[in-house]
Amino acid sequence: ISSKTSSKKEQNFKVVVRVRPPLPREIDAHAGFAPITHIAKNNKSVTIQEYLGAEIKEGGRQKEIASNPNICAYHTFKFDYVYGEDSSQKFLYENTAKSAVLSVLEGYNATLLAYGQTGTGKTYTMEGFSNSLNDPQKGIIPRSMEEIFKFIESSSNKSKTFMVRASYLQIYNEVITDLLKQEMTPLQIREDKKKGVFVEGLSEWVVRSPNDIYNLMKDGMRNRATAATNMNDISSRSHAVFMIIVEQMRDTGDKSEDAKGSQHETSREIKVGKLNLVDLAGSERVRVTGATGKRLEESKSINKSLSCLGNVITALTDKKFRSHIPYRDSKLTRILEDSLGGNCKTTMMAMISPSYDAYSESVSTLKFATRAK
Ligand code: ADP
Ligand code: MG
Repeated sequence: ISSKTSSKKEQNFKVVVRVRPPLPREIDAHAGFAPITHIAKNNKSVTIQEYLGAEIKEGGRQKEIASNPNICAYHTFKFDYVYGEDSSQKFLYENTAKSAVLSVLEGYNATLLAYGQTGTGKTYTMEGFSNSLNDPQKGIIPRSMEEIFKFIESSSNKSKTFMVRASYLQIYNEVITDLLKQEMTPLQIREDKKKGVFVEGLSEWVVRSPNDIYNLMKDGMRNRATAATNMNDISSRSHAVFMIIVEQMRDTGDKSEDAKGSQHETSREIKVGKLNLVDLAGSERVRVTGATGKRLEESKSINKSLSCLGNVITALTDKKFRSHIPYRDSKLTRILEDSLGGNCKTTMMAMISPSYDAYSESVSTLKFATRAK
């Protein structure tokens, strides 16, 4: 049994922000682009610029905002790290995701969550769009897998055996489906003493190389429910949870002593760690997308599960609430119950656009992320 000291605990919860580059639709044909987000030199805070003028003139408005601080207010939010538009996928992985992956290899559970309005870079950050191992745009999922297999290769000579399994599920309108199966049968959450909380019937795929993951990701992406909203782009209205379970068995064989000289009852040592990589549904509010009917139902369950996630995180990070953590209030938090808080590394990655158009959504994302701290 390895004992982690409580001093490490503080670092187990992190909140970072990523500001993506402007998209073509956000760049004014006449006036160009002026970001309303300003990242501190030490990358520990972001200041967002609010436009106080009553009228916004078509064209030229971004320059107007940028050049006239008298009609602006500035709001600063602090985080563990703020990534700017020129931060690479590689840097974000190494600076934020890697330590969580390494903790999974030590037998802990860990969770990385991508939060934000649709179109801010959640899927880009988690998956990237790469088809090859050499693509610098590849995201956290493929990089994590490479890390895991690098570790396996480097320890293969030490009488260790590894089993890596992956699952990919979607939560859409509080209904869980398997993204790696053809049929979209609703799946139920069950709990038993041995397995803890689990999704009954969720497929688990044994992965033998990072390449296997690309194929799984492609299958999953194809199955993921997407729908057009009023917001220009195809938006993701579901949470997607990519789970990687790493099981290591070490044969201690005849030698009943380990390196430190302690005795072992059995000749086998098993370590299991689980990594949850969560691409959350868009956090934009109902009124923004003008939802009705089915869209409204979607928005309600998205809002409910995101606010429940916020409540769970607040409860985990605030001693006052720690006696009751409301995991049971949504499917997402139930599934993640064994992988949030405690010894589990939990990282919230909040995504925002640098554009004036996204001001109110960006502020609401920064507030959500601040609350999570
Ligand atoms: P979301 O999943 O939050 O809806 P996406 O990941 O689909 O958003 O990103 C929206 C668009 O922005 C995509 O075209 C994506 O390639 C681009 N994008 C997002 N983040 C970045 C980034 N950091 N660098 C470059 N392009 C990005
Ligand atoms: Mg997406």
